[in-house]
Amino acid sequence: MASITVEHWGYAPDGSVKCYKITNQGGNSVSVLSYGGIIQSVLMDGEEMVLGYDDLAGYLGENPSYGALIGRYANRIANATFTLDGREYHLAANENEHHLHGGPEGFGKKNWRVEIVGETQSSLRLSRISTDGEMGYPGRITVECTYSWSDDNELKLHYQATTGRKTVINLTNHTYFNLGRDATVLDYLLHIDADRFTPVLATGLPTGQIEEVAGGPLDFREVKAVGPDIDSDDPQIKMMGGYDHNFVINDHDGSLREIALISDPASGRKLRCFTTEPGVQLFTTNFPPGKFTGRGNTPLPTHGGICLETQHFPDSPNHENFPTTVLKPGETFDSTTVYRFE
Ligand code: BGC
Repeated sequence: MASITVEHWGYAPDGSVKCYKITNQGGNSVSVLSYGGIIQSVLMDGEEMVLGYDDLAGYLGENPSYGALIGRYANRIANATFTLDGREYHLAANENEHHLHGGPEGFGKKNWRVEIVGETQSSLRLSRISTDGEMGYPGRITVECTYSWSDDNELKLHYQATTGRKTVINLTNHTYFNLGRDATVLDYLLHIDADRFTPVLATGLPTGQIEEVAGGPLDFREVKAVGPDIDSDDPQIKMMGGYDHNFVINDHDGSLREIALISDPASGRKLRCFTTEPGVQLFTTNFPPGKFTGRGNTPLPTHGGICLETQHFPDSPNHENFPTTVLKPGETFDSTTVYRFE
């Protein structure tokens, strides 16, 4: 039997924040904040696996969405605008004129209702209502995400949403993993089951094309280290200062499948990622050194973490050739991602 402890973490603008720590039979734990649905900590044998802060102030301040549940639309929407059934919607812009990760007050900056669910003291259900017009999106939606932590060290995120009016939705989690002893992830070995990716413009927005990874720096079909091609002259990499790209998962059929594996040779730790989503954003924390801090107020080095943001493709509402992100009344959005620590 796992156990859950609850700690009061202070106050966000929309309410009191609690931290829920789930400890499994092996003594490994996951801590989740009601604020932003943030995965604040994953401890394996007492070692921290994720970047973040030790207090709420860090999360309330400027930070790169450490561990957050991202919505209503993960990743970017060009010009913070899209058209649905002939009507143009204007979203709140937060990256120049564009919209990133649900806008300035996206789901990752809201306090969620949290319930402990199930018999085994290993699951939390986070839920909230996003009102019609929130951040500019149409439709009042009811969203929930169930976080489960198994005795096999599998962290499962199960998202569901329904809407009162036709809208778009794309949910992800923005955890930055760092599996061990090294300050950066450059020596990590990575596999991604993707023959193709969605190339970007300098803004990080997709061009709308879908290209082959074959032979290039984004080719992780065979296990390859993160570091060697991260300073490549390839314009896709140079422009983003590393990897910040959406990969098109091979043979996507909506079932839960293993799509990526990260391993850290120094610590021997592995992280396997499974998802029902058609895409995954590989982000190698391409910020200048010290742009952000982390635990203990230490400056975050460039490439200090790695994100596997399972998702639909960026800016899909503006690209008809991308899988649809439209959610209609009567339908249930349903998406699952599992991170397994080994
Ligand atoms: C984006 C990056 C961004 C980061 C933090 C990632 O999902 O692709 O460009 O800097 O999130 O917001």
